[in-house]
Amino acid sequence: MNFEHVEEYLGAIYRLRESANAPLPLPRLQEYLNYTLISVHEMVRKLEGETLASYVPYRGVVLTGKGELIAASLVRRHRIWERFLADVLAIPGEDTHAIAGQLEHAAPDLVTERLAGLMGEPELCPHGSTIPPKRSLEDEKRNEIFSSTHNPKG
Ligand SMILES: [Zn+2]
Repeated sequence: MNFEHVEEYLGAIYRLRESANAPLPLPRLQEYLNYTLISVHEMVRKLEGETLASYVPYRGVVLTGKGELIAASLVRRHRIWERFLADVLAIPGEDTHAIAGQLEHAAPDLVTERLAGLMGEPELCPHGSTIPPKRSLEDEKRNEIFSSTHNPKG
């Protein structure tokens, strides 16, 4: 399983759900990611296998504690980069989302966190969404999760 792909799903669940405990219906996820419902179902099963999410029959998918940490960390990186692109580089708001989507994976956490510090720890992205606070997901734990889901060739 490709870790970026895992992050994409976890981040989408995090963004789309109504609250932390509200199951997100799979058709909503499918619509947002624009994959087939079959591949969304398959991926949710894989996320369950990695204890990153759990599926509530007929209702949808919720993140586990481990999935929550990865999702919040991804969304945090994404929104910090959006803030930087908009405020410091004056990139139009409609472009920041796509560019941040690349940088959130390319930049080490250290760089992203320094950036947040430099900008005075912003609380909102340029689109008005809350930037999740920094969580205590130590690199070691992240690497452990990473190595269990990362395909070195991918
Ligand atoms: Zn945004």
